[in-house]
Amino acid sequence: YERLNNYATIDTLTHLYNIRALKQRFEEELARAGRYQNSLVVLFLDLDKFKLVNDTYGHLVGDFVLKEISQIIRDSIRTSDIPGRYGGEEFGLILRETDLDGAIIMAERIRKEIGSLQLHNKAQLVPVTSSFGVVSSTLCMNPCDLSSKWMIGSADRALYAAKEGGRNCVRTAERR
Ligand code: GH3
Ligand code: MG
Ligand code: MG
Repeated sequence: YERLNNYATIDTLTHLYNIRALKQRFEEELARAGRYQNSLVVLFLDLDKFKLVNDTYGHLVGDFVLKEISQIIRDSIRTSDIPGRYGGEEFGLILRETDLDGAIIMAERIRKEIGSLQLHNKAQLVPVTSSFGVVSSTLCMNPCDLSSKWMIGSADRALYAAKEGGRNCVRTAERR
């Protein structure tokens, strides 16, 4: 049963939560945060120009990079944080009882760690950078407007802004 349950909730490549489990945990945490008016943060991380990494070095190297990134994420978060793989080369983190400033500091730390990864493939350096979108429930001024749709949409828009802004940076969602 435990093995079946793991298959259903854990991403096989990175061993982080899969998207399904991440979404479920998020709904639970958002309900809790709303009830106690705690700050809850969603952080999206997407690797920059990752298609190029695959095209240049091959899919296996790409997979290896994804595993290294997931280890950086694991090493950077607190035990109360919830890390997951949101898509192919996109990660989502749920940070409980974390304010926006603390979340931005964490995102910057992960961004720098990823940028300083020294990965080599046949004596060639494989450069990797990442972009971040961050949203806190405290950015929503009216508690009635706080929803998972708004949080996820906001984190996604912030991530898009980070890509538009030249990549390898952290952007925060707009206040609502
Ligand atoms: P951007 O900076 O705009 O995010 O560019 P990008 O190339 O990272 O973005 P895009 O979404 O166009 O492509 C994502 C690429 O990530 C496509 C695919 O080559 C790669 N990818 C997705 N999932 C996996 C995976 O599981 N393993 C490997 N090796 N590569 C993956
Ligand atoms: Mg990408
Ligand atoms: Mg992507």
